Amino acid sequence: MSISSLTEADRKHLIHPVVNYRAHEARGVTLLESAHGSFVRDAEGNELLDAFAGLWCVNVGYGQESIVEAACAQMRKLPYATGYFHFGSEPAIELAAQLVERTPASLQHVYFTLGGSDAVDSAVRFITHYFNAIGQPAKKQFISLARGYHGSSSFGAGLTALPAFHRNFDLPLPQQHYIASPYAYRSNFDDDAALIAASVAALEAKVAELGAARVAAFFCEPIQGSGGVIVPPVGWLKAMRDACRKLGILFVADEVITGFGRTGPLFACEAEGVEPDLMTVAKGLTSGYAPMGAVLISDEVYRGIADGSPDAAIGHGYTYSAHPVSAAIALEVMRLYHEGGLLANAAALGPRFAQGLDALLEHPLVGDSRHRGFLGALELVADKDTKAGFDAALKLPDRIAAAAYRNGLIFRAFGDNILGFAPALSYTAGEFDLLFERLRRTLDDALAEPEVRAAL
Ligand code: PMP
Repeated sequence: MSISSLTEADRKHLIHPVVNYRAHEARGVTLLESAHGSFVRDAEGNELLDAFAGLWCVNVGYGQESIVEAACAQMRKLPYATGYFHFGSEPAIELAAQLVERTPASLQHVYFTLGGSDAVDSAVRFITHYFNAIGQPAKKQFISLARGYHGSSSFGAGLTALPAFHRNFDLPLPQQHYIASPYAYRSNFDDDAALIAASVAALEAKVAELGAARVAAFFCEPIQGSGGVIVPPVGWLKAMRDACRKLGILFVADEVITGFGRTGPLFACEAEGVEPDLMTVAKGLTSGYAPMGAVLISDEVYRGIADGSPDAAIGHGYTYSAHPVSAAIALEVMRLYHEGGLLANAAALGPRFAQGLDALLEHPLVGDSRHRGFLGALELVADKDTKAGFDAALKLPDRIAAAAYRNGLIFRAFGDNILGFAPALSYTAGEFDLLFERLRRTLDDALAEPEVRAAL
């Protein structure tokens, strides 16, 4: 099909995730054609440096031939195996064992999903089943963070605390509650300890308000991604985990973005010795080469469910749970992180990424720079002293994204003037130089627009 007929067919028939449908019809699709390493090529032949790893998922970079080979070999051997009726396949079992080995010691059992949203949904179903099975059916209230993102399922989108995911979807549900996000830049705390103490106090207050006997779990991302890359101080995650234990509620770490080396260690929980009751993962698990996610659960939760239903099937299942091709891909991806040297590369180049972002703090548009590992953001403000943002009517994120594209760079420009970055763990030093050269030019281009300059 020609570019114009593809654009036309897309406009007519293909519904895109999280866009304004009328705006998409007017704008049309940006057709991507191929990719290699850290670069993607669009249908018009433009080469773009991808500083967002697709959708913070292609952690190993594009064009990893060994993954293609692993997928082909598995497709030839056994392209599908159901997990129903007690069937299973070697790659899925091997992957489950590896995940248990490499995640915090509390997590002993793995349920495979197709991505992050259904990993979160599975976590909620397991938690609900667990409390019913152990005779605590009143524990049905869920707490998450303002600006949190936990996917787009009918329940998970209510744990997500972003207005677009609630509007006209009849969310949040009555059993979904939020506490403030650990957002240092937009909070007035003297230091990190005060911010951590405030988060703990907010959780305690919310649990007291709802009644501990009615609260099932607290869900959080170790670093909030889709809410604007909000990086809590070191120690925050551990403090929240410990608070949950004291309060008698389950602690769920949603590591869909932070997992698989994105923040430095394989999992963000590892950095603080945090042992969650449940953990959700996806994205970097297969690096986007095939859909797959997982929820890992503690032995206590697993035993509660298993022993509570000794004679009946546990009615939770997907046709493609533990898909052997996705599992074979994930095994090769795991090899690339470790033996392939990608975690080591990210550890070596993390400071370069951090310095590059921090250096842009002197740019007239940049109010904040925050990062951990290969996950980072710049927040743009109209006034650095008051931290006042830009009027939404200025559509600064759209202007920035368009300027970046013209400069051969892709990253995420969030609606509230936050620019998110998640380069592949395979980035080279030279690619970081190119990223920051193109990013600075992009910010300068935006600043040169008279409407932007007038807003400062
Ligand atoms: N949880 C978190 C923390 C996420 O960032 C995402 C996706 N961005 C999800 C869940 C949902 O994952 P998916 O899009 O694969 O359904």
